[in-house]
Amino acid sequence: MRDIWIVAENPAWAAVLFAGAKAISSDAKIVAFVNGDEAAAKAAGSYGAAAAFAMPQPADGLWEGYAKPLAEKAKAETPALILVSASKRGRDLAAQVAAILDAPLFTDGKNVTVNGDAVTAQTMIYGGTGIKTATATATTALVTVGAKDYDPAPAGSAPGSVATLPYAATAAKVTGHQARPAASVNLPEAAKVVSVGRGFAEEAELAFARDLAAAIGAEVGCSRPIAEFFKWMPEECYVGISGQVLKPDLYLAVGISGQAQHLFGCRDAKCIVSINKDAECLMNQNADYYIVGDLKEVVPAIIKAAKG
Ligand SMILES: Cc1cc2nc3c(=O)[nH]c(=O)nc-3n(C[C@H](O)[C@H](O)[C@H](O)COP(=O)(O)OP(=O)(O)OC[C@H]3O[C@@H](n4cnc5c(N)ncnc54)[C@H](O)[C@@H]3O)c2cc1C
Repeated sequence: MRDIWIVAENPAWAAVLFAGAKAISSDAKIVAFVNGDEAAAKAAGSYGAAAAFAMPQPADGLWEGYAKPLAEKAKAETPALILVSASKRGRDLAAQVAAILDAPLFTDGKNVTVNGDAVTAQTMIYGGTGIKTATATATTALVTVGAKDYDPAPAGSAPGSVATLPYAATAAKVTGHQARPAASVNLPEAAKVVSVGRGFAEEAELAFARDLAAAIGAEVGCSRPIAEFFKWMPEECYVGISGQVLKPDLYLAVGISGQAQHLFGCRDAKCIVSINKDAECLMNQNADYYIVGDLKEVVPAIIKAAKG
C-alpha cells in the first residue's frame, strides 16, 4: 500500500494515529507530522515512522498555515491516506488540506479500510443517531481520528529523519494570546465519572452529585444543557458527541435521559449506571445497572452506603 501520513496535535496523539495507521495497513510506510518543534517531531515519529516533520507555530501564526505546504507535499508524494487528530485545530487543518487537494475527508471516521485507491470509513450522521458507511476513490483521502479511537502504539524505533515543514503565512495573524482558565476537572483521565443532567431542578442540587463524586472518588461531568444552556458547569465538562468522549471504568448518569448525542460520549465506559425516575428512559436502556427513583432520595442513600 502507498504511504500513510499522520498529522498529530501532539506526540501522544501521534501514538494513537500511528496505531490507527498500522491497523489499516501493516506494511504502509508511515510519515509523521506534528504540531511543535523537531523534538516533538522526533517524539511523534518514535513509533517507527519513516520520517517525521515538525510544524512549529510562529508566534503570530496559525496551525492552518501548514495546510498549503501539507497539501503541496501530498500532491507531490501521493500518500494513500492522511490521518489527522480530531482536535479542533486538526479538523480545521484537515478540511483545508482536503479542500486544496479536492480530496475526500471522513470526519471522525471509524473502521477505516483501504483497498487500492478506495477508502471506506464509517461516519456519524443525523447528530449521531445514524452511522454512514461510505467509500471514496481518490489518490489521497483524509480521515480525522479521535484521541481514543485506537490504543496508543508502543514506543518503537526513532524516525528515519526529522525535518521542519515550511510554514506558509496566512492572511490572519495572531495578535495576542490569553490563557484560558484551567479546567478544574480532567474528565478523559477519570476512572469514575458522576454525570448530571436536567433531572437536577436547580444549580444548588448539584451538591448531591458533588458529594456523591467525593464519596466514590469520581469527577463530575454533565449533559450538554447543564453546561451550554444553564451554565451550571464549564463547557469542557459536558459529555457527548459535541463534548467529551470518555472511557471511564464507571459512568454514573444521574438525571440524564440518554439521548444518542449524550450516549456517544459515554457508551464505551466499562460500566454504566443510571439513576432516573423514568424506568423506560434511554439511559436506563443503555446502562449495565439502573436505579429507578428520585435522585434526591437515591443519591444520598448511595453516599451513605459508600461511606459505610
Ligand atoms: C447536534 C446535537 C448535538 C448534541 N450534542 C450533545 C452532547 O454532546 N451531549 C449531550 O449531553 N447532549 C447533546 N445534545 C442534546 C441531546 O439531544 C439532549 O437534549 C440532552 O443530552 C438532554 O440532556 P439531559 O438528559 O440532561 O436532559 P433531559 O433529556 O431533559 O433528561 C432529563 C432526565 O432526568 C430525569 N429526571 C427528572 N427529574 C428527575 C429526578 N428528580 N430524579 C431522577 N431523574 C430525574 C428525566 O426522567 C429525564 O430522563 C445534542 C443535540 C444535538 C441536536
